[in-house]
Amino acid sequence: MTNTQTSPLDSPVETTGDSGQMPSPTTAPSTLEHGELFIGGQWLPAAAGGRRDVVDPSTGNAVGTVAEGDAGDIDAAVAAARAAFDQGPWRGMSGRERARILHRVADLIRENADELVRLESLDVGKPVTLCRVVDVATAAEVYEYYSGLAQAVDGATRETPMNAVAYTRREPLGVVGAITPFNFPLILSSSKIAPALAAGNVVVHKPADDTPLSALFMAKLLSEAGVPDGVVNVVTGAGAVAGEALLRHPGVDKIAFTGSTAIGRHAAAVAGEALTPVTMELGGNAAQIVFEDADVEKAVGSAIKAFVFNTGQFCMGGPRLLVARPLYDTLLGILAQAVPGVPVGDPRDPETVVGPMAAERHVAKVESYVAQAVADGGRIVCGGERLALNGGFYFKPTVIADLANDSRVVQEEIFGPVLTVQPFDTEDEAIAMANSTPYGLASGIQTTNLARAHRVAARLDAGIVWVNDWAMLDPAVPFGGVKASGFGREYGPEGLAPYTRDKSVVISLD
Ligand code: NAD
Repeated sequence: MTNTQTSPLDSPVETTGDSGQMPSPTTAPSTLEHGELFIGGQWLPAAAGGRRDVVDPSTGNAVGTVAEGDAGDIDAAVAAARAAFDQGPWRGMSGRERARILHRVADLIRENADELVRLESLDVGKPVTLCRVVDVATAAEVYEYYSGLAQAVDGATRETPMNAVAYTRREPLGVVGAITPFNFPLILSSSKIAPALAAGNVVVHKPADDTPLSALFMAKLLSEAGVPDGVVNVVTGAGAVAGEALLRHPGVDKIAFTGSTAIGRHAAAVAGEALTPVTMELGGNAAQIVFEDADVEKAVGSAIKAFVFNTGQFCMGGPRLLVARPLYDTLLGILAQAVPGVPVGDPRDPETVVGPMAAERHVAKVESYVAQAVADGGRIVCGGERLALNGGFYFKPTVIADLANDSRVVQEEIFGPVLTVQPFDTEDEAIAMANSTPYGLASGIQTTNLARAHRVAARLDAGIVWVNDWAMLDPAVPFGGVKASGFGREYGPEGLAPYTRDKSVVISLD
């Protein structure tokens, strides 16, 4: 396809220049306008004319606006997607040609890394250094990985006593409604759109209300790479309006949802009523278990990474540290020293490790959990309060000791830079504590005992278990939830399967 239009994000936003560095706070862009919807290969304003502010979390200032889509825009996007699917420019293409285009997307992500880093950091408050090596690098790898699998979406022949040839075909589902959360906009949209496209589907993407910028930029890159008009559509807007309309749209053949357990429950119920297949990547509250035989230095590094990464706004973060009692005081002492030294600050500073939270309401929520922890008898080891900096949404990395396991602060998903630390006495007790919350997304073990690593990993209720490190993620390795963390898997061949359906063809030889 050819796309002669410029992206709405092209002109009004300052570029980063050749250095690859983010602009300093004083030269940060003050306007970001013309963020329109991408429907049927066209950049369109919301039909009802609505717009929404985009806020820079590092200052609290609005830096521009994007279109606020509603049910009418979703309707138009689904119609465009349906037309593209039915006309077949994408699903009719060979897997190999789709693979070439998806590979070009990966190349374009790398070529446009500076701009993607700038947008994602501006939108979410992510430190630029991490954003480059994590968010942007991973998004490219996800497209690269699924470009490989696009060539292998094939069925099987089946031996049967019937006098017949029987084989299966793996076919695309049709229109995929992709709904994504605020915390990893680029990675989580890629982990849906790339496998959906690899299998020949078309997509309507509704990014998170507050962090839509990279989704709009990706629409431009997908188009540039050769994805035909209408195959990927992006409608920005509120979850309760545009998201709900997508969820309920009768023209949608599959919902791929990542977000909170509360909204996920609702989405699964609505989809269930319509018998629309869904994958649900929901909340988490992972524990990391430090056994007495652990390498303490490694365990401390892993514990800190697990709760400060992405300012704790990480579904697979590790906000609960369970420590063998003989190591409890030692570990708390090391954390008290080390955590205040983690560089918190302006996300545009290349030295920053922890940036602001993505929105003021997230800081208020963390603050209320810390107050609850104190009321429950918890001891604040470090942090515990906001950090006043440039009017941004900062909260100091916080360690809380001595809470009972049934405290709300331990049991619920805080989704901020907060670590609770609790002692345990036996392996069985540690496993029971790790499994005691409603969630089951990730879990971790620190041990030098190989037998224990395998034994405990097998007993943890989680979609992924890390041993002696945290957040080791790769597009080839599936992740996903159990219990209230959802169902379905992303990444790996497992992440492609939910975007296909099997059809059996049986040919009589009589
Ligand atoms: P959220 O549930 O508030 O929103 C997620 C998406 O759903 C957004 O696009 C939102 O606009 C949309 N939405 C809201 N109401 C809707 C409705 N009625 N109908 C349809 N869509 C609706 O989640 P969030 O605050 O953006 O993200 C944080 C949550 O996501 C955390 O709970 C986190 O653990 C979870 N998460 C899970 C994973 C995972 O892989 N399991 C990854 C990242 C985040």
